[in-house]
Amino acid sequence: MSPTVYYEVNGEPVPATECDWVLIAPCGCECGWSLARYSKNEDEAFTRSAAERKRDKKLGYKVIVKRHRDICTDDCTHDPKWGVAPRPQPDGHTWAAKHEGRVLHLVPIVIEKDSSSAYQREPISSRCGRADARTWSTTWFRTKGLVECTACEVEAKRMLAEAGTSS
Ligand SMILES: [Zn+2]
Ligand SMILES: [Zn+2]
Repeated sequence: MSPTVYYEVNGEPVPATECDWVLIAPCGCECGWSLARYSKNEDEAFTRSAAERKRDKKLGYKVIVKRHRDICTDDCTHDPKWGVAPRPQPDGHTWAAKHEGRVLHLVPIVIEKDSSSAYQREPISSRCGRADARTWSTTWFRTKGLVECTACEVEAKRMLAEAGTSS
């Protein structure tokens, strides 16, 4: 039999079987739970890529251990939800990844006439100007685990601010 694992909760040892890993959003609400007995650490508890973990930490997400009976599953009513502003998305643009891309870039949505395929004749450049491709994908299996390109994010905010002042 494997030894019982204990976690310290409020200064007391509590067996892992009674605990959860809890993901705390920047607003203070609990936004994710994972049974502590199934994962050794927070990385196993919440499947996120290294890039996503780094971004979440920067945004102010935290992971703690709580007793199962003390978790709070109330929905977040903060504005913005979870204390995180939605990612900026100017009109006519989308966040997408290149084939085997490592980040999400902001790209203009281009629909070529006389073409039913997503494949474009001319490469489309990301707003940051650092990437171009004929095919950009927004499907989950291409974009999962990727975070937004910082330069594109800056550009997206600038575009939204500009659109806001002109209207
Ligand atoms: Zn909240
Ligand atoms: Zn970019």
